[in-house]
Amino acid sequence: MTHAHGYAAHSATTPLVPFSFERREPGEHDVAIDILHCGVCHSDLHTARNEWGGAVYPCVPGHEIVGTVTRVGAAVTAFAVGDTVGVGCMVDSCQRCDSCAEGLEQYCENGFTGTYDSKEQVSRANTLGGYSDHIVVNDKFVLRITHPPEQLAAVAPLLCAGITSYSPLREWKVGPGMKVGIVGLGGLGHMGVKLAAAMGAHVVLFTTSPNKVEDAKRLGATEVVVSTNPAEMKPHRNSFDFILNTVAAPHNLDAFLSLLKRDGTMTLVGAPATPHPSPGAFNLIFKRRRLAGSLIGGIAETQEMLDFCAQRGIVSDVEPIPMSGINDAYERMLRSDVKYRFVVDMSTLQPSSSS
Ligand code: NAP
Ligand code: ZN
Repeated sequence: MTHAHGYAAHSATTPLVPFSFERREPGEHDVAIDILHCGVCHSDLHTARNEWGGAVYPCVPGHEIVGTVTRVGAAVTAFAVGDTVGVGCMVDSCQRCDSCAEGLEQYCENGFTGTYDSKEQVSRANTLGGYSDHIVVNDKFVLRITHPPEQLAAVAPLLCAGITSYSPLREWKVGPGMKVGIVGLGGLGHMGVKLAAAMGAHVVLFTTSPNKVEDAKRLGATEVVVSTNPAEMKPHRNSFDFILNTVAAPHNLDAFLSLLKRDGTMTLVGAPATPHPSPGAFNLIFKRRRLAGSLIGGIAETQEMLDFCAQRGIVSDVEPIPMSGINDAYERMLRSDVKYRFVVDMSTLQPSSSS
């Protein structure tokens, strides 16, 4: 076992605090990684506060990990000590079901192992995530990072916010000539804007925060709509090929479904703690519109996304924070006051501060 330091929630209602724990010795297929940066996803907050139910404590969140390889198991050939690597939302899966065979490990029919608050495949131990100094991960779930070293903090959010936006944009074949809406300018949404623009689409960003309009244009949106203003929404009715909805709270889906043209699709990636009000059937029926969902992305597609971003210089817009700032960051996230992803600088995690 190796001794790890991190930050953990011990209940749904108490702040995250320093926490020491053990990680396994790297097995023959494992890679040990010293964590440099870890992004702060809204899913971390949902989980730490048990908003989705079933949280296991102590809970060490964090699934947007960039770090340096320190050890590799005897059977590992793809990674070597000193490599810069990433780990996203998954650290394992059954690796034998149809979904895993298709590279869709996120839909593993036997249940993938999430990076935190999830069950190891064999031991069924609870996983502990990236708000920590190091992690040990099966080599098939380690990603190669080719961005320049000075961008590594801004690369971390690609491991969840990036792939969760990229995968549905690819699945619904977003490209030139398409009018694409992104709903919500947070961590996922700002990556959605950058990626859809890079794919050549006409991008319209929907926000409830009028102070984000200029940023959205800078990030790549051609148009920005304040979604709480019906006069701004109305001209866009029946005009979208595809809408990616990243909002972390329940809201009226009909307001966006009515903006789809015939056969258009709105895909939900936002995962609110309580359900959205049901959309009206007529809104879907009359234009054969589709309402869909999408979960992160597979490992091969995550590598494809990282390479796509590296080739185009795409990274996240980040605000670095010390590990001790995590509880304040959660409060700001709840106020939609994030531009546009907090990333923990793991060098601020002092072993001496752990208990
Ligand atoms: P985030 O940074 O907090 O961004 C969410 C954005 O939604 C906010 O910035 C805000 O944008 C908008 N919003 C928040 N509350 C709202 C409300 N009451 N009404 C309307 N808009 C509201 O969160 P995130 O990290 O991007 O995550 C977004 C959601 O996706 C979370 O539920 C997260 O758990 C989920 N998620 C899903 C997957 C997946 O695989 N499907 C993966 C990762 C995360 P504006 O200020 O622009 O309105
Ligand atoms: Zn996430």
